[in-house]
Amino acid sequence: MDFAFSPEHVALRETMRRHMETEAKPHVRHSDETETFPKHLFKRWGELGILGARYPEADGGVGMDKVSDCIIREEIGRVSQAYCGAFSAHSHLGVWPIWKAGTAAQKSAYFQPAIAGDKIACFGLSEPDGGSDIRAMKTRAEKVDGGWKISGSKLYITNAPIADFMLLAARTKPDLTIDAVSLFIVDLPAKGVAIDALKKEGLRGSETGLLHIDELFVPDSHLLAEREGSYSVILESLSENRVGVAASVLGVAQGAMAEALAFARTRIVRGKPIIEYQAVAHRLADMATEIEAARWMVYWGAWQVDEGTLTDAAASKVKLVASEAAIRVTENAIRVMGGAGIMRDHSVGMHHRDALVYVIGEGTSDIQRNIIGRALKKGDLEI
Ligand SMILES: Cc1cc2nc3c(=O)[nH]c(=O)nc-3n(C[C@H](O)[C@H](O)[C@H](O)COP(=O)(O)OP(=O)(O)OC[C@H]3O[C@@H](n4cnc5c(N)ncnc54)[C@H](O)[C@@H]3O)c2cc1C
Repeated sequence: MDFAFSPEHVALRETMRRHMETEAKPHVRHSDETETFPKHLFKRWGELGILGARYPEADGGVGMDKVSDCIIREEIGRVSQAYCGAFSAHSHLGVWPIWKAGTAAQKSAYFQPAIAGDKIACFGLSEPDGGSDIRAMKTRAEKVDGGWKISGSKLYITNAPIADFMLLAARTKPDLTIDAVSLFIVDLPAKGVAIDALKKEGLRGSETGLLHIDELFVPDSHLLAEREGSYSVILESLSENRVGVAASVLGVAQGAMAEALAFARTRIVRGKPIIEYQAVAHRLADMATEIEAARWMVYWGAWQVDEGTLTDAAASKVKLVASEAAIRVTENAIRVMGGAGIMRDHSVGMHHRDALVYVIGEGTSDIQRNIIGRALKKGDLEI
């Protein structure tokens, strides 16, 4: 067993921390207030190589391991979970299936420009009646001459208002089976797609849309892999991304903890810093311990991805532990800081709003428990 990061991982962490503190953090307050994402960051992330970190060099990526991807997301999340949501929807959800299953033409037209930061991606899976339940998907693609006609709607789609293309899930057969779920690559803006920007409590610095899709024409060449049935690719993509999402919420917890700790050392009440009060020190001790526990789960998950042994249940455990810990840690950060924690000139309130999103997004905590419970029932989990 080896619990240490390699020198390359340590150097990556330093580079990412510097980048986020100097180039991204100055935009965070404005993003949160205006509910806008600074699009130029995608280009910068392309230059830094982090959008293609996980993809092989032979495909134009950087060929880093999953541990590196988690370090990158942890450092983005530490400054802004909203920016990490935009990063995840783009660099993973919107393009991983294209890298994994796309044709050569689809990769060169969409995957490569996306990892260079030249095109922004989004992933349209969830619907008004089908968030947790993908089988309830109503968006329907019907075969027409030369392509497909798609109608339906997609809800809560990260990056949709700013995206250049969307990886869109639609049913290519009328029956409600998982085999009928296929993926299409859709250029945006598009005739037949109207996008309403949504107002959110959390992740305000990322842009989220409700999409109304009405008789959208998509050519045959834009059906992923030019074949119907991509449900297994979606599931594989979501499982791996749950570990990445867990890394970003771990970052949020750290961002809040760092602010609360600095505050507790300097805030004087009745003549002494509040960290001298045992109640405050114990709260901080619990926060630090929860962060450490989540950190080991996240990097255990990343290691399993790198070993090729990650199961759906393991990914769910990682996401469940880290996202629930982030809620407790960010709430405790507010409590440590008292009234100051509620004020917008500190970040802990934003971190708490943002942490709340990830017990919902990428599968709610209940859905993670369902996945773990199913594995226990089947006897697939060692205890
Ligand atoms: C900010 C944000 C960004 C998002 N970005 C994207 C995106 O880019 N692309 C995308 O496709 N989706 C995106 N989503 C959608 C997200 O994945 C869904 O919100 C999530 O899967 C939950 O679906 P729902 O909101 O419809 O909740 P519902 O499915 O309606 O769930 C409501 C409640 O019922 C519970 N529940 C539902 N089914 C079960 C069950 N079987 N067992 C136990 N409990 C259950 C849930 O746990 C929850 O508590 C985003 C969501 C948010 C909030």
